[in-house]
Amino acid sequence: MKIFIISLFPEMFAGPFAHSIIKRAVDADYLTIKIINPRDFAFNKHNSVDDYPFGGGPGMIMRPESIFRAIEHIRAKSSLESSRTILLSPVGKQFNQAIARNLSACDQLIFICGHYEGIDDRVRETLIDESLSIGDYVLTGGELPAMVIIDSVARLLDGVLGSDSSNTDESFSEALLEYPQYTRPREYRKLIAPEVLLNGNHAEIKRWRKQQAINVTMKHRPDLFVDKETDE
Ligand code: SAM
Repeated sequence: MKIFIISLFPEMFAGPFAHSIIKRAVDADYLTIKIINPRDFAFNKHNSVDDYPFGGGPGMIMRPESIFRAIEHIRAKSSLESSRTILLSPVGKQFNQAIARNLSACDQLIFICGHYEGIDDRVRETLIDESLSIGDYVLTGGELPAMVIIDSVARLLDGVLGSDSSNTDESFSEALLEYPQYTRPREYRKLIAPEVLLNGNHAEIKRWRKQQAINVTMKHRPDLFVDKETDE
């Protein structure tokens, strides 16, 4: 998969993309990530990419020209059919695991990160396939949301996690949260791991985990059951 990120703050990505699963995915060529600074496509000699909002109001708005140019630059270079252009925005559809799964089937993703008070709406109107929000709160920029989405998509790419079951058993994979997990030591400060996980009876372990997953979901996220019933 190819990922392009349009961001005024490319340095923000250095840490999260230099470690763990994303780094391994890039090193093993499952993923290429290119960060494009709209300032490199600025149309004036001061490289300014923002301006005051028409109609007044606080803050600055990212101007459309350099974002249009950056997207045109990416699209001119790629002939990939399955490409999606995503605007990060608190106004977008709320991101979830089903959307992550859907995006993981694409060949190319382009993320547009807003900053300041946001982006001139002509970008949303004409350049993008969808707007995504990572939750009902306002962040300073689209960089953290882009990292969150890219992380969750990358771990769904074939081969990235090594073992397929690493993500098929996880929370949300069946509209259920994950069952509780335990490891060594068997007993710690008089807290004992459930006996059923240690008896080697795989059918029983499977049943126990399914029931625990249902219990955890009922307790913490009963809405997931309602959503699943509505989907069916
Ligand atoms: N004035 C905007 C509003 O009220 O909706 C908020 C702009 S916010 C300070 C700047 C940028 O951060 C946005 O353009 C968007 O790219 C990003 N952003 C902030 N919160 C976000 C969220 N919950 N999900 C996705 N992107 C977000």
